[in-house]
Amino acid sequence: MRIEQELKLGFKDVLFRPKRSTLKSRSQVNLTRDFTFKHSGRQWSGTPVIAANMDSVGSFEMATALAQHGVMTAMHKHYTVEQWAEFVKGASKETLNKVFVSTGTSERDFEKTKEILALSEDLEFICIDIANGYSEHLVEYVQKVRAEFPNKTISAGNVVTGDMCEELILAGADIVKVGIGPGSVCTTRVKTGVGYPQLSAIIECADAAHGLGGMIIGDGGCACAGDVAKAFGGGADFVMLGGMLAGHEQSGGEVIEKDGEKFMKFYGMSSQSAMDKHSGGVANYRAAEGKTVLLPYRGDVNNTIQDILGGVRSTCTYVGAAKLKELTKRTTFIRVQEQENNVFGKE
Ligand code: 5GP
Repeated sequence: MRIEQELKLGFKDVLFRPKRSTLKSRSQVNLTRDFTFKHSGRQWSGTPVIAANMDSVGSFEMATALAQHGVMTAMHKHYTVEQWAEFVKGASKETLNKVFVSTGTSERDFEKTKEILALSEDLEFICIDIANGYSEHLVEYVQKVRAEFPNKTISAGNVVTGDMCEELILAGADIVKVGIGPGSVCTTRVKTGVGYPQLSAIIECADAAHGLGGMIIGDGGCACAGDVAKAFGGGADFVMLGGMLAGHEQSGGEVIEKDGEKFMKFYGMSSQSAMDKHSGGVANYRAAEGKTVLLPYRGDVNNTIQDILGGVRSTCTYVGAAKLKELTKRTTFIRVQEQENNVFGKE
């Protein structure tokens, strides 16, 4: 047994230190990033926020709405090839190049991904997603997908340490998805005791990935726009959001009326709810590692995404970053033991 003594940080442990700035307004801040990916060689331009590949977040409706803000959507895995064909027929090139086709690592997943990608050249992104990215099997699967699709941009995860980021990039991933346990409906830390505070995971993984010309997605744990800004400040190239984008008109979930108020069900992708829906219940060798919550219905996601992007722009003005690209260089985090004042309740 070993103990690492260095304290690892979550979003709640830091704030940005403001810096002198010549920016007068957040309208002067540009959140668009231009990337060229290491293996695919593809260029991409957009706002590097991604709706998570979860049942009531990563929907076709969400992708259509968010693409208008330059924002991406990782589609959940449960659409059929026929449903994809319908979507692809009606979607613009600008929408399709902001979409990730998500996949697990089974042979069936591989065949389905091939069928979906064959629908349009404009589908450029693949998200290989398993809960435990430390499995050898993931590395082999990334190699296999890279060999089959040399010019698609591949994201793989989830991991939380630099060594595994490097291994996935060397295996063919352009982007590594980072986060184990921080998610709003995740219970991995409770069920298994495994995890890594998300801001430190981002800082360490970004450093490792950037050293090899790769990129990372900070995935999970953002509860407010300030956390999204902190993830970018820590070095995340992309930030993935589940809970913050759930419960909306475009989330694809069922609206439930209770005592005159509207709610929407939101659940983790390894929760009992998800397994009941997609796999006929929880297999007897595993425990559910996600929970189910009822969120107050939040209406149109366009308002929420504007609010989030507005917050990040504002962070940039406080530290003098005219472009999102400059945010991490302009970031000094101070460690704190307080965040917001909740005397009149939470925002
Ligand atoms: P959030 O933005 O809601 O804090 O986190 C979203 C992320 O939580 C997802 O992108 C995914 O990585 C993770 N996640 C989703 N469902 C589950 C689950 O059932 N269990 C665990 N451990 N993580 C989940």
